Amino acid sequence: MRKISHSQHRLAATLDIQGCGMTSQRTRNRLVKRLQIQGIQHPYILHAFRYVPRHLFVDEALASRAYEDSSLPIGYGQTISQPYIVARMTELLLQQHDAKRRLDNVLEIGTGSGYQAAILGALVKTLHSVEIIPQLHHSAKQLLLALGYRNIYLHQSNGNWGWESAAPYDAIMATAAPEKVPNSLLQQLKVGGILIIPIGKQGRTQYLHAIQRTSKTDYQTTLHNSVQFVPFTRQSQR
Ligand code: SAH
Repeated sequence: MRKISHSQHRLAATLDIQGCGMTSQRTRNRLVKRLQIQGIQHPYILHAFRYVPRHLFVDEALASRAYEDSSLPIGYGQTISQPYIVARMTELLLQQHDAKRRLDNVLEIGTGSGYQAAILGALVKTLHSVEIIPQLHHSAKQLLLALGYRNIYLHQSNGNWGWESAAPYDAIMATAAPEKVPNSLLQQLKVGGILIIPIGKQGRTQYLHAIQRTSKTDYQTTLHNSVQFVPFTRQSQR
């Protein structure tokens, strides 16, 4: 398997330092096998799952469940997404794109635990990720720094406005579900760029949407998996 980034080397080193040892590596390998069976094929994505220590992104009391294929609570009424959905959204985000060239500039809305950011950070050049809950923003920031990431920029803000100062983006991923796509996210995409976002009412079936900006004014939408995400907070003034 080819190496995917310097951050992966640092991650591997951090794992040794923290003494997470072979058990976690073995369980991560099992997780990767499951993802392959579920249809995830992209070798770099599988590689990222092999190395990012998901158990560090959940509360210690839940660490033993970190490699199950389920979402888990991360406090403040929020959840870390199920690994398959993290992998699937990452696959959709990378789909349009030439595998030899890493995506330059990517935005995530909903940092949460920071796990999806860690996976994306291993695959793209620069990742900006916005989180509305200050406590989650701070703990994700500490963890990603400790894991050695230097290409992930975390911001505490309402992602309803996107993150204008680093726009436009090659790709945007939202990990909370609005009922309707926020206009700012569409505006902050490059032409050719893609937005991956779950859309739908709470308690109803939501679908992953892949929305590609095909020109300055046109967008093309494809519907994918049915999912269940926490709400995308729309309120609050700029
Ligand atoms: N990607 C996260 C998933 C966390 S759940 C992970 O890997 O753990 C979704 C997150 O979106 C929550 O932390 C929630 O606080 C955040 N969120 C919801 N609405 C938001 C908004 N408008 N702006 C920024 N973050 C938002």
